[in-house]
Formats: sequence, C-alpha cells, structure tokens
Amino acid sequence: MPRWSLGIVLLLGACATSPARTARHGAGHPPGGPDTSSRAAESADTSLHATADGQTDDLEACDHEGEDDPDDEVDDTSEQASAGGARAQPPVSPLAALTDADIERMVREDPASLGSLSLGATNAGRLFNGVQMPEGEGWSHISPAFAWGTQETVDYLVRAIRATRRKHPDSPPLYLGHISAKHGGPLSPHVSHQAGRDVDISYYLTPQKPGFHRATAQNLDRERSWAFVRALITETDVEMILIDSGVQRLLREYALASGEDPAWIDQVFQYGSRSPRPIIRHARGHANHLHIRFFSPIAQASAARAHRFLAKQGVVQPAVKYIRHVVKNGQTLGILAKRYGVTVEAIQRANNLKGTFIKAKRILNIPRPGAAAEPPALRPPVIPARRLPPEQSASSAPARRPSAGG
Ligand SMILES: [Zn+2]
Repeated sequence: MPRWSLGIVLLLGACATSPARTARHGAGHPPGGPDTSSRAAESADTSLHATADGQTDDLEACDHEGEDDPDDEVDDTSEQASAGGARAQPPVSPLAALTDADIERMVREDPASLGSLSLGATNAGRLFNGVQMPEGEGWSHISPAFAWGTQETVDYLVRAIRATRRKHPDSPPLYLGHISAKHGGPLSPHVSHQAGRDVDISYYLTPQKPGFHRATAQNLDRERSWAFVRALITETDVEMILIDSGVQRLLREYALASGEDPAWIDQVFQYGSRSPRPIIRHARGHANHLHIRFFSPIAQASAARAHRFLAKQGVVQPAVKYIRHVVKNGQTLGILAKRYGVTVEAIQRANNLKGTFIKAKRILNIPRPGAAAEPPALRPPVIPARRLPPEQSASSAPARRPSAGG
C-alpha cells in the first residue's frame, strides 16, 4: 500500500518576507473549503530549477504579484465558464456510479483500479496512482524522478507536444522539469506541484539547449512555442499557463501576425489585454520555462469521491502542516531542526533532500508536528468550458477526454 498523506497542509508563510499576509491566507482556508489558495501560492512558485548541466537558476524565490483575494477562485470558474459562452462541463468520474461499498472494496483490494487521484490543492495536496511521464520523441527529461502526474496530465502533455510536432515535424525536444513527486506532496523549491497537475517545461528556442534557458527576442522560437501553447489551450483541459510578460509579448505579436483572432487572443493572454481571467498569466521566474497547470477533471472528481474511504482505511496519514523557511547564511539542517522542534530527517523528507547541505536563500518546507488530523472534504471541481478560437468554437465538437484508467 503506498504511503502518502492527504494534507491539510496550511502553508503558513508562503513567503517568509510577508508572514502577516500569508497567515491571513492560511486562516482564510478552512479545511474542506475549495482550493482557493492555489493562485496565491502559484505566484510564489519559485524557480530554482536545476538545468541539465547541473547548474541552478535561482530567479525569484517569492512573488506576490497577481495574488488575489482567496475567495476569487469561485468567481474565476464562473467567469471562465461564461467567457466562452458555453456551460461548464461537470467531469464524470468512473467512480461516480459506484456504491460506497464498491469503493471501499477497491481501496482495500485493488487501489490501482481507482485510477489517478489528484487529492487536494496544488499547493497542499497529494497524488495517488500517479503516472510517470514516459520517455518519448519530442521531449527530454531533466528530472524524471519528479515527473509524476495524473493520467490526464501526462496524456494532455503528450498530446500537446505531438500536436506541435505534427505541425512542425522537425522540432527539437522540449525539456521537461518537475511535475510532481511520485505521491505528490511538497516538492522543493516549489509551493505548488503537489497534486500531479503542474508541469514545468522549456520553451522552444533556436538553437534549443538542454535544460531551462531564458527566452529572448533573439532565441525564442515563436512559431513552435506558440503552436505548443495553442495546442494546450485548444486541445487539453488547461487551467492556466504561467509565462513571463516579456515572453508573452513575443508570442502574442507572433500569434496576431500569423492571423489568430484578436478577440480570442485577448481572452487568452494577460499581456496586452484586459481579460479578467486570462489563461496565460505572468509570474516572475517564468522567462526560462513555462508552468502549465492542468485541471485533470477526472482525477479531481475521483479524488473527491474516494478520499474519505482512503482516509478511513488508513491510506491517508495524519495531515502535516508546513511552514516555509528561507535559509540564511550559516544555517544548517541541525540548527533548523532544533529551532522548529523537528528532526533533520523530517526536514529532509519534506524537501526531498538526500544530503545535509543547504544553500543560503533556499526555501525549505518545515513540517510542524501536531497539525489537525481530519482529512478535508474534497469537492468535485468545476471545470470551465475550453476557450476556443472562433472557427473551432463554431464547430463546437467537444474534445475527447482521455480515459481515467491507469
Ligand atoms: Zn512550476
């Protein structure tokens, strides 16, 4: 039985520089509420990314730009749903038609049959029955050990890359960074990437180089990068894409010049438009890679159906509460363990640290003992209709969803 925990993981201090603000966020999310904190946390998504040559790009460690009121998430979904003029489609989990007894038996006897489950928030969640992104033509792994997602995340990522390569068969590989750890949960240095729905991946550059490298007007392959982003928006259930404003400007200019519908472009880009809820949003640290968040509708809906049975049968460990700590010069794991009253091993586990060396400015998740033990009640997600360009929405054929099966 895989060991994992469903977090009521309150990130008390998503950014150490503004404890009051993050504490307010923490207080605003009672266990069981909808995932209202993902955007706030996403803006703090750090970008200490290992490149293929072993170097790290320490960009912005913390960014509150775009941080919204925690209650915004509900409005978000309804606005997105109406923006496309279509009603949101409730995702149908294969578990929906099963009885409680059926699900209890599956948890006990054949947990793999539940399919991928994205449990909880992207900044405080877990992944159950995750799928590792395979090797494949068109992409290259940077850290395959942390490239686990829901079945839908993997399927949709592959689909968007393949769509790009159908259009441009001679494309170089994209470089794939973190998705999630095998069972989700905290994945240093990110705040999100916890529930199998977040993906970090390179842009197409000319020439393409292994790892993540800053995209500029000189090296950004606009044609392929836009084809990829376009496929994500039109062919997958994408929740948002984080792209630095400077890169957005280049892609937007290219998209318009290549004949895309200006009103649609306004809807999807944050840069240069007034869309209240663009899909492509700016967050610092995303000039050298883009961050994709998928809805994974089935994995979320199945998680909402199954999680209490997982908890009941002890598959769910007591929740762990984390705080974020920015390492200062001279601090060691031993000093931090003593200060927070936890073990060195617990800090290592929470941050996927193999050794004891920690660099100054690194952000660590510090587990706090004694957090609430009740698993939160998960609600089925509300998935807005895809925002398609006019010629595609006219035909309005609903895109086929991937199966939820393993
Ligand atoms: Zn990311």
